Amino acid sequence: MSNLLGLEVKKIVETPPEEVERVKNWINTEEYKEKNFARQALVITPAHACQPLGAELAAHGFEGTLPFVHGSQGCTSYFRSTFNRHYREPAPAASSAMSEDGAVFGGQNNLHEGLENAVALYKPKMIAVFTSCMPEVIGDDLTAFIRNAKQKGCVPNELPTPYANTPSFSGCHIHGYDSMLVSILQTLTEGKQIEGRCTGKLNLLPGCDFNTGNYREYKRILKEFGIPYTLLADISETFDSPLDGNYRIYPGGTKLDDAADSINGKATIALGTYSTAKTYGWIKDTYSGKHVSMPVPFGIAKTDAFLMKISELFGKPVPESLKAERGRAVDLMTDAHQYIHGKKFAVYGDPDYLLGYVSFLLEMGAVPYHILCSKGTKKLEKEIQALLDASMYGKEGRIYINKDLWHMHSLLMTDPVDAMIGDTHGKFLARTAKIPLFRFGFPVFDRVNLHRVPLIGYQGVLNMLSTICNKFIDITDDTCDNEHFEMMR
Ligand code: SF4
Repeated sequence: MSNLLGLEVKKIVETPPEEVERVKNWINTEEYKEKNFARQALVITPAHACQPLGAELAAHGFEGTLPFVHGSQGCTSYFRSTFNRHYREPAPAASSAMSEDGAVFGGQNNLHEGLENAVALYKPKMIAVFTSCMPEVIGDDLTAFIRNAKQKGCVPNELPTPYANTPSFSGCHIHGYDSMLVSILQTLTEGKQIEGRCTGKLNLLPGCDFNTGNYREYKRILKEFGIPYTLLADISETFDSPLDGNYRIYPGGTKLDDAADSINGKATIALGTYSTAKTYGWIKDTYSGKHVSMPVPFGIAKTDAFLMKISELFGKPVPESLKAERGRAVDLMTDAHQYIHGKKFAVYGDPDYLLGYVSFLLEMGAVPYHILCSKGTKKLEKEIQALLDASMYGKEGRIYINKDLWHMHSLLMTDPVDAMIGDTHGKFLARTAKIPLFRFGFPVFDRVNLHRVPLIGYQGVLNMLSTICNKFIDITDDTCDNEHFEMMR
């Protein structure tokens, strides 16, 4: 090996090829797996993102809202580039750009100057402020800083400026989403509750969901029901806006007036019991009308429960069109079950999505075999175990809470499965294990348009099942010998 001047550079350590080969094989053994699972002070490729990224998602879901990161620019760039790569859309956000002096003397000056500039340049209708790790580590007092900013006139008094502490050394993106969402709703609804007023609407909280297709699907379902609604918070236009030659800094989002009036709603359904826990806790003590928290409607049973709940809350029967959709989904499951039945899956991701994957796979007679969440709780483990226990296909399923994708490597190498479900980060494992990866999670950097394909509802059953079964059929076609290469599959 030579350097730019063409001079020979001697390697500090020479590793013989046999040693490289030995280690390459060793990391796929039971012996290595034991060591891998014994590790405690190191996380390798966690299957989650950091708190402020989730907070930014919530902020993007509101009309005219500028997400504002109090912290360093590097973190802000990471959130924005993650959204850019997943959606292939812009994700405008501002930052207080804290650096060394901010870390020593506190970030108030940075925050005030940043807010003043952001208001002048980007003219938002709301600024949603959240923190990255640095101000959390040094203990910046966000409540006092925002109050001072208003007193100093850096931010007009009437401009809604919700804020959330989103330290990434505890929790993950779903917690940041939840904290930001509840702060936005608390800010917008303050003083808006009117005795005796009822908007007649359903407030629907889709939870921390990065799939724009799911938001459109919720809207379509509610339109079929003929039920007026407010989606809290709606990112469907923000990250899937039309290309017509005009750049809009704030496309779409829930109207601020609608969000403010949501406190007078007829009913509220919070989907995603893990990513809306805090918001739901506050809503049920504050909002008018009825309140329900339930899982994200993945698969038939969870979609049935969701539609029945809407029907019950609004005293309207489930529309015939949705019943027909259900029938088609069941027909499709019957036609396709032979291609998925008995196949073993490794699944990883957010708690709410994981619960959905497990339900859906069990309904199809597939085996959720390795189930991994890198930010989970005992409660989640119990909930997944209950799903497994309720099905004859759940007996072999094993749950791994607070484990990462390198643990998953050991699982795949020592106890193989037929496929994985998760996000793009699993592609290296899928390649090593020579199995397909179904990219239903977040983020997806290496395929296009998947965030537009709904996974919830009966339509989601159709999409997930067709994707999975057709891939298995492709594999059969690609790997069979000539005698078994058939027209019919
Ligand atoms: S973990 Fe903390 S430091 Fe790292 S990107 Fe997230 S907020 Fe920034």
